[in-house]
Amino acid sequence: MIITVGVLALQGGVAEHLDHLNQIKNVRALAVKKPEELNSCSGLIIPGGESTTMRKLIKDYNFKEAIIKFNQQQKVIWGSCAGLILLAAEVEGEKEDQLGLLDIKVKRNAFGSQLNSFIEKNMIPKISDSVQELVFIRAPLITEVGKDIEILYQKEDQIAAVESRNLIGTSFHPELTDNNAFHQYFVNKIRNKIS
Ligand code: GLN
Repeated sequence: MIITVGVLALQGGVAEHLDHLNQIKNVRALAVKKPEELNSCSGLIIPGGESTTMRKLIKDYNFKEAIIKFNQQQKVIWGSCAGLILLAAEVEGEKEDQLGLLDIKVKRNAFGSQLNSFIEKNMIPKISDSVQELVFIRAPLITEVGKDIEILYQKEDQIAAVESRNLIGTSFHPELTDNNAFHQYFVNKIRNKIS
């Protein structure tokens, strides 16, 4: 069965996620620019970018209610980097309204500025049994996780990828590598929900 997977296309690294999704068999990737387009999607990626800008656009384009409803329908959402920040229940030092769907606390820009961007090579056993490049760009750190959150990746005490029943969050950017394992994992999670 062909499924449609959306990428929230308000700001940030949209094209890279669309490219990765389009490489997966029986997936149609859709750049979601209007809330009603979510109706045709079985899953959604909120990409990296600038969370303050994206938060404002989510409000201006009336996406907040639509994304919350999407989540209530048990459809899978993956937030990468800024997307992870927007999904988090709490952002250290900020009071702005988040989507608040993922029971974690995050710290923005926890690894320093753009200059402190780096690539870490490591394996994430649940995603793939080969080593992946984990690209961190002004990345958030996950500083607390709720009881129903599974940690997918952590280095020493630094948590950088988590999963719950219908959400995934990564501090890093799998869409900036030529490895498709994370996108494949996300699509499998969507398919498991709808089968
Ligand atoms: N530092 C950005 C923010 O706080 C996130 C960076 C990214 O998405 N690459 O929104």
